[in-house]
Amino acid sequence: MSESRVPRDFSLRSPEEQQLFLTDTWCDHCQQLGLGMRDPEEYELFGIVFIEGKCSQCGETILTELTEDAFDDE
Ligand SMILES: [Zn+2]
Repeated sequence: MSESRVPRDFSLRSPEEQQLFLTDTWCDHCQQLGLGMRDPEEYELFGIVFIEGKCSQCGETILTELTEDAFDDE
């Protein structure tokens, strides 16, 4: 299993899905749900897909971990 990030193309997701990931967020810094994120980057690490972005409110990094049933695009 690779220990380095494997980039994935977030923009290949459907607009609806992208919108969901960008708005359905949890910010550890703000301790609030649904603040939204910007500059999303999708990658795979240790066999898990992550979407990383910046909180729209505070700019801190937000990391969304995708569970297996959250993606079936391959
Ligand atoms: Zn925040």
